[in-house]
Amino acid sequence: MRIHVLTIFPDMFKYPLHQSMLEKAQERGHVDINVHNLRDFADDRRKTTDDTPYGGGCGMVMKPEPVYKAVDYIKKKFKIETKNISIILTCPQGERFNQDMAKELSEKHTLILMCGRYEGVDERIRNLVDREISIGDYVLTGGELPAMVIIDTVVRLIPGVLGNRHSIKTDSFFGPFLGYPQYTKPPVFRGLEVPRILLSGNHNQIELWRKKKSLERTSLRRPDILKN
Ligand code: SAM
Repeated sequence: MRIHVLTIFPDMFKYPLHQSMLEKAQERGHVDINVHNLRDFADDRRKTTDDTPYGGGCGMVMKPEPVYKAVDYIKKKFKIETKNISIILTCPQGERFNQDMAKELSEKHTLILMCGRYEGVDERIRNLVDREISIGDYVLTGGELPAMVIIDTVVRLIPGVLGNRHSIKTDSFFGPFLGYPQYTKPPVFRGLEVPRILLSGNHNQIELWRKKKSLERTSLRRPDILKN
C-alpha cells in the first residue's frame, strides 16, 4: 500500500511515522508513506496555501490550487492508474471513522490524505475527494492528527504487519464485542489477584470466560453496540 499525506506541517509526521509498528511496516515494505509539503505546490514566491474567505468573516481558508496540483503530481510521479485509490479529506463534518472503514481502506492500493487547517478548505477541494472522514465530534486545529490516527489504524490491518504477537481478532470492534480483560505477571499485585481461571491452563474454560467478559464489558460500556 502507498499512502500520501498533503500538509503544510510535514514536520509533525517525523516522529509518529517512525516509531514501533509504523516504522517496521515501512521497513518491511508493507506500506510506503510519503508526506508532501503543500507549500511546494504553491505558485507564488511566498508559497501561499491559504487566503481570506469570500463574503468576509474571520480566519483563513485553504486554497484549492496547491491541493489540485499536489494530487496531479502524485498521480503522475507514482504512475497511479489503479481505480483502487481513495482521496480523503480529514474533516469534522465527514463520516465518523471506525474499524470497518479502516478495514476497507486497508484494502486500497493508494490513499491520499488531505490535512486541512484554519477555517477549513475551499469548498471546491471537495470535488477532488472520494470521502471525508472525521475522527470524532470535536474540532482540532488541523487535519494532521486525524491523518495520523487514520494511518495507524489502517496500517496495522494490512496483512502481515502485526504478525503473530498480536491478534487483531481479539481487538475491540473486530467482532461484535469489546475486548476482554487482560492480565500479566505477577499473579498478585498489591493484593489484586489475577482471576484463577486464567492460571488454570484449561483453554476451553479460559475461552468461555473471555467471551463472557467481552459480552459483559460491551453491555456495560457500549450497550449501543449490542443494540445494533
Ligand atoms: N471550520 C471547520 C468546521 O467547522 O467544520 C473546522 C476547521 S478545523 C479548525 C481545521 C481542519 O482540521 C479541518 O479542515 C480538518 O482537516 C481538521 N479537523 C479538525 N477536526 C477534525 C476532526 N474531528 N476530524 C477530522 N479532521 C478534523
